Amino acid sequence: MKAVQYRRVGSSPEVVDVDIPEPGPGEILLKVDAAGMCHSDLAVMGWPAEQFPYRLPLTLGHEGVGTISAFGPGRHRYSEGDRVAVYGPWGCGLCRMCSYGKENYCRYAGRMGINPPGLGAPGAMAEYLLVDDERHLVPLGDLDPVEAAPLTDAGLTPYHAIKKSLPKLVPGSTAAVIGAGGLGHVGIQLLRALTSAQVVAMDINDQKMELAERVGAHRTIRSDDSAPEAVSELTDGKGAEAVFDFVGNAATTRIASRCVTTEGEIAIVGVGEGTIPVGFGTLPFEAAVSAPYWGTRGELMELLELAGHGSVRVHVDSFPLEETPQVYERFHHGEIAGRAVIVP
Ligand code: NAD
Ligand code: ZN
Repeated sequence: MKAVQYRRVGSSPEVVDVDIPEPGPGEILLKVDAAGMCHSDLAVMGWPAEQFPYRLPLTLGHEGVGTISAFGPGRHRYSEGDRVAVYGPWGCGLCRMCSYGKENYCRYAGRMGINPPGLGAPGAMAEYLLVDDERHLVPLGDLDPVEAAPLTDAGLTPYHAIKKSLPKLVPGSTAAVIGAGGLGHVGIQLLRALTSAQVVAMDINDQKMELAERVGAHRTIRSDDSAPEAVSELTDGKGAEAVFDFVGNAATTRIASRCVTTEGEIAIVGVGEGTIPVGFGTLPFEAAVSAPYWGTRGELMELLELAGHGSVRVHVDSFPLEETPQVYERFHHGEIAGRAVIVP
């Protein structure tokens, strides 16, 4: 089968031929219908050799939707031909976090050699994907597979971050979204669907700012040093009750820390290595900062329900698998608005 692999640190991903995997006990083989392209893939391919945590070659793609094609030995609840979304942050399945469905926060998976597809295990940018366990699958229902694939991360990650801040996002509140890319443009829609907050989106790219407006941001602001002042003006000098930083670099975390209000919350979702110091005189009183990772299995189910009602739609551009290396190149240059989705 064809697969998109990152083969050597520092080199571009390649389309290669590999064997179709055989499902072992408890495993499921999916025929991949669609795989989303995440900025985290670019981050992974930017890591230096001495820091690189995964074995190479690595088949990319941690946002996957597929149709069940075969089962390994054992009893199964799904049937061949079922269309499913893949919950990506695979945990050990048995610890307390996993039993809460918070496999994204399993403390054992890493040391047990359990990795998410595309982030250690062979990923979804291939004709077939091997899934560890049936519990990682969520039925897709009538959702379009290409639009649904990014929900498993570009949707789930903002959903998880936003859900935690819902108690703060009461009528009259403001939510700021920094970075209206793959995650951010879904985050804006989730904020509109789940809250009555004023949604202020920031980006540095005109095309992304237009998309932010189209998907429901009440206001868009250029993300520069003057952004906190603009947020202040839009909130009668108060600031935002919740700030979602989908970039997370030094510039955006600075903006986030200057936009948040007293008792507000900042979620640093982007992995741009920005940090926010907390202590007296740094942030408004009781402002809280967190760095959430992905989301829970239950939240993926909730999100697919929400998408089923049409409350959130990923803006997608789809490409054949053979073109993936060039699409990564365009993505790297900021030329993809919404999400690029690979269709093997
Ligand atoms: P993306 O490239 O689709 O979107 C990033 C957006 O940020 C783009 O619209 C870009 O124009 C904008 N941007 C860049 N610099 C900016 C700045 N200084 N101010 C405002 N906007 C700026 O990326 P994505 O796939 O949405 O991923 C976003 C980030 O989230 C990445 O760092 C990714 O690695 C990370 N991520 C984290 C998790 C998690 O679990 N925490 C999960 C998925 C992705
Ligand atoms: Zn991702």
